[in-house]
Amino acid sequence: MTLPDYVHARVIFTGDAAHLLPIFGVRGANTAFQDAQSLGWHLAFVIKGLAGHELLANYSTERVGAAREIIEEAGKSTRFMTPPSEGFRLLRDAVLSLSLSEPFVRPLYHWRTSRPHEYTDSALNSPGDDNALFAKGPAHGAPPQNIRLAADDFLLDHLGGGFDLLYFTDAPALPDPLQAVVGAARSRGVPLRVIAVGAAQSVTGADLTLEDANGHFRQRYGVQASGAAYLLRPDQHVCARWLTLDATRLQAALHTALPQ
Ligand SMILES: Cc1cc2nc3c(=O)[nH]c(=O)nc-3n(C[C@H](O)[C@H](O)[C@H](O)COP(=O)(O)OP(=O)(O)OC[C@H]3O[C@@H](n4cnc5c(N)ncnc54)[C@H](O)[C@@H]3O)c2cc1C
Repeated sequence: MTLPDYVHARVIFTGDAAHLLPIFGVRGANTAFQDAQSLGWHLAFVIKGLAGHELLANYSTERVGAAREIIEEAGKSTRFMTPPSEGFRLLRDAVLSLSLSEPFVRPLYHWRTSRPHEYTDSALNSPGDDNALFAKGPAHGAPPQNIRLAADDFLLDHLGGGFDLLYFTDAPALPDPLQAVVGAARSRGVPLRVIAVGAAQSVTGADLTLEDANGHFRQRYGVQASGAAYLLRPDQHVCARWLTLDATRLQAALHTALPQ
């Protein structure tokens, strides 16, 4: 129920034109929005000459993967709602009747229908980073975990529009070599914002500083020391994370995320 490839020369497929999802998953519109959000930044970067056509191929690979995952999950809902055989009907009726008295049964049919797909194996993920060394936090391809910064102020309110580098630091300034890589990327037209996390004062070289007085942010992101960082793509999925970031590693991650 999905095309195997969404990019055909100058025609790009998205939403229901690209895939049809089982109705009982209630994910068709959600997925169409996610496709559109993904296509938006991939296409913009190619049109602006910031990446080659390989980036469009990545749109297709990632979203076909998402559609296949959703079709598999929504297929389970369909078999639950309209059991195709006596066995499925027996299971469905048992789950429904047992759930009235047995709490452990309820999660079997209560799952979120619009969570984002994780691009775990994306070609845009940085191969040389510290992803595997983190004990916590959003991994390669995952969306960022939202953090409540203050009353009515959340991390997600501050992200988007381009790449975001979350740089965890207590220092008053971003290291000069990192600032140089950020500056060079921007001068090529790459939208890249730096958000410093953890310092009590505004960090020189960062576009924004978010305090983390109680350490909650660092704790959720599995960060223990100054100098750790996450790089988020324009659709906010994580494409690199480091326990210790330096200029060479940031440059390599940007190079991987924007294939020429
Ligand atoms: C009963 C029902 C309930 C649903 N419930 C949910 C739900 O709860 N949650 C959820 O996420 N999804 C749900 N969906 C699925 C969701 O509605 C679709 O997946 C979604 O609308 C797909 O959006 P789209 O923009 O890709 O396609 P469409 O919404 O089909 O938009 C395509 C548009 O292109 C137009 N068009 C077609 N041909 C041409 C042409 N030649 N020239 C110009 N225009 C053209 C069409 O008129 C249409 O307006 C439901 C669907 C149905 C039918």
